[in-house]
Parts: sequence; C-alpha cells; structure tokens
Amino acid sequence: MAIKGIIFDMDGTLIDSQLDFDQMRTDMNLPPNAPILETVEEYSGSRRQECEQILKRHEQRGVEQATVFPGIPALLLHAESLGLKMAIVTRNLHEFAMEMLQMLPVTFAPVIGREHGPVKPDPWALLYICQQWNIEPHEAIMAGDYRFDLEAGKHAGCTTLWFSQKRVIGASDWHGLADYTLENNFLGKQLLDEILENHRDQT
Ligand SMILES: [Mg+2]
Repeated sequence: MAIKGIIFDMDGTLIDSQLDFDQMRTDMNLPPNAPILETVEEYSGSRRQECEQILKRHEQRGVEQATVFPGIPALLLHAESLGLKMAIVTRNLHEFAMEMLQMLPVTFAPVIGREHGPVKPDPWALLYICQQWNIEPHEAIMAGDYRFDLEAGKHAGCTTLWFSQKRVIGASDWHGLADYTLENNFLGKQLLDEILENHRDQT
C-alpha cells in the first residue's frame, strides 16, 4: 500500500493566515472552544447572519495578512518531485483558499472548501478526493495542524500527519490521532521520505 497522495489542510498548516479562532468566538459571543461553523449553523435569522459576517470579516483579513510558513515551499516541491498528488481540504471558503494558494509553488487539485459539502472532521471531502484520484484512502496522507484534520483523516482511513507548529506535543487529548508528527517544517522532506518508505509496497 504505497502512498500516492497528500491531502493538506491550508490555514495553520501551509499558510499562516493568523486566523484567531478565540477572537472569532469572542466577537460572535460563542462559548469557549465551540466549533465555530457547527455552532453558527445551529443559529437562525439575524443571529446567524451576524456571525457569518464576523467570520467572513476575519477570513478576509486573513487573506490580506497571509504568509507562507517557512519550510513549506521546499516540502511541497519535494512531494511534487516524488510524484505525489496534492489536494486541499479547508473549512475556509473556496474563493479565499484559491487566492492564498497562489503563494505556493505547486498545484493542488482538487481544492475543497466548506461550501462544497460536509466539513472536517467529516471525512466526506477526503473520500471524495481519493475517489477523484482513483486511489484507496489508505494510500493517502491527511496532513494538518488541528484536531479536525486528524479526526477526518482517521474517519476516512488515511495516514495522518500532524504539523504541530508551535503547539506543545501531548498537551491535548487529540494529539494521539497523529500517525506522524512534523515538529519542524524544515525536516518535512526527511519525514515524508520516511513515511513513504514505511508504506512502500512489499511486493
Ligand atoms: Mg488548520
């Protein structure tokens, strides 16, 4: 079961859009740690509209501030040189994603935003991508920086790769969902080689 593709989360993984989810919750008056999209979806009328506007305002600012995390371009070019397919699954909007992804040196296809279907941690988008790529979920890596990415990866049956960024490993109950952890983006090439080697066909 060789690895044939990587499905990436975008915000906080490849792109530093500086989205402050705690500040979003404060601005929307949501409970601490509430999943934003799911909580807003339960609201209706003007309350929901107000939250959606706040969210979009934060995301728009994110697009304007966005930078690429150091070490990411080299990692992506390495993945491309290995012949791996690459896609994006984001809880952000597709239009914002397409704008930010222009900063990266490789092409992602497909790019799935939240308007396309059930969002992570639902595995829908991951399974859809594997189907498009004509591969099995266990032949794909789901790579991301947060709980939803690893949960979606596990639900789909993918190998999970956690970009820990600046988080303290083991500090949250979901860190154990990572099959592999990348602590330093500049070590990404070696880790990718290691994962591919571990999953190489035994035939
Ligand atoms: Mg993220």
